[in-house]
Amino acid sequence: MPSTRPDPAHTTWDVVIVGAGPAGAATAITLARFGQRVLLVEERVSTRFKLGESLPPTSIDLVKHFLGDPEGPEQQLPGLFRTAGNVSLWATEQADVADFFFTSTGFGLCVERLAFDEALRSNAVAAGATLLKGVRFQSCARIADSTFNWQLRLTSETQTQQYRARYLVDCSGRRAVVARTLGVPTVHNDDRLFAYAQWFSCVGDDDDRYTRIEAAPHGWWYSNRLPGTEGNETKRLVVFHSDKDLPAARMAACRQGFDQLLDDSTHITPLLKARGYHPCGTIRGAPANSQRLQDFCGDAWMAVGDAAQAYDPLSSQGIDKALRTASHAGHMIHYALTDCPQGAAGLDSRNEYVHQYDEQQRQLWQEYLSQRDFYYGIQPRWSDQPFWQRRRQLANEVNRLQIDSPRPTTSRQLTQNSDGA
Ligand SMILES: Cc1cc2nc3c(=O)[nH]c(=O)nc-3n(C[C@H](O)[C@H](O)[C@H](O)COP(=O)(O)OP(=O)(O)OC[C@H]3O[C@@H](n4cnc5c(N)ncnc54)[C@H](O)[C@@H]3O)c2cc1C
Repeated sequence: MPSTRPDPAHTTWDVVIVGAGPAGAATAITLARFGQRVLLVEERVSTRFKLGESLPPTSIDLVKHFLGDPEGPEQQLPGLFRTAGNVSLWATEQADVADFFFTSTGFGLCVERLAFDEALRSNAVAAGATLLKGVRFQSCARIADSTFNWQLRLTSETQTQQYRARYLVDCSGRRAVVARTLGVPTVHNDDRLFAYAQWFSCVGDDDDRYTRIEAAPHGWWYSNRLPGTEGNETKRLVVFHSDKDLPAARMAACRQGFDQLLDDSTHITPLLKARGYHPCGTIRGAPANSQRLQDFCGDAWMAVGDAAQAYDPLSSQGIDKALRTASHAGHMIHYALTDCPQGAAGLDSRNEYVHQYDEQQRQLWQEYLSQRDFYYGIQPRWSDQPFWQRRRQLANEVNRLQIDSPRPTTSRQLTQNSDGA
């Protein structure tokens, strides 16, 4: 097994973290900075592709906290690129511009996830965590009457080994492999949203720094210019979202159908044509539905990031939530382990620190649901189409309950700026 430290199987780990995406790496950084012995396990050795994703201005301090460099993020932090704001055709057919110029940072970020995730992992190792790549979490069992609570089976291409840990963190993304192994069900997954992504390239530069969002009869679109250039080629990502059971989703999965749907878009197709973009690579699909675990934590385990709760990309909050809750989880786990130096006693969800994390997760989920339903609710067109009928039904239920609540201000298709100014 490739490893940055000798003999990880014979070390007794304070915390084993399964999954080294943003949530896992940031949890590892937080715990390792406290001096906890952290093993970070990632099944992939390398990844060929990841989407280009965007972060609002309000996430920039968080990125700096985990990646360093307060002065010039887009110059020095890998995989990042400044964005100017959002242009959305959502509540009306008029383009609505939310310019980040008027926020405290003046810009947002587009994230090239391969480089971004790799930089976070490097910082986890620099903070003292041990990273195992190409190693998959297989199973876990509790150890009775021991200082250590968990015996884990981790598998690489060549071998399976047993590891011991006091605390287990599930950062495996939407699959939530640890929670599933422990029998914790996924709940509230009441939509079937799926994302279909197509990359485009053009010769020369594309100076459009806005994230484009557009509602459509059978779903919605977003498009971003991606960080970096290859030779003199610029790349742009175009993503269509629809419910997987709808005919439009089947169309979007193949080039011809995707192009047909895209031809009807009001501002994405003209933008692609004006700059001479052509499709490159195949269309990739990914689940994009809202889901959460029934329990976010239990006896000596916790779920963080998408493993705990995964959002509709309309929110543009997944990475922010992964980093923010990883910081909180890391602190709470450290305090809980420090307070309970022996065995599992005191490390269950009645522990005050674990309980605080659980409360935070529940509150985040409620806030997320009301924002999601609010934004789907204000899009008034295509009331005869199943995609919008389904969302309106959910939105009506939530809006009836929250008629006097202030309007939320952090969505991808937000019409004001992300400081809420
Ligand atoms: C179409 C789409 C667009 C999006 N756009 C945005 C956006 O613009 N902005 C934004 O902030 N968010 C966006 N998101 C959400 C964002 O991608 C996620 O919220 C974020 O990746 C969550 O990070 P994570 O670390 O929790 O999970 P992940 O990034 O999924 O990482 C989980 C890791 O666990 C590993 N793993 C899984 N199983 C095992 C196992 N058995 N053993 C070992 N390792 C394992 C995986 O290989 C992976 O590296 C978007 C999502 C989608 C689907």
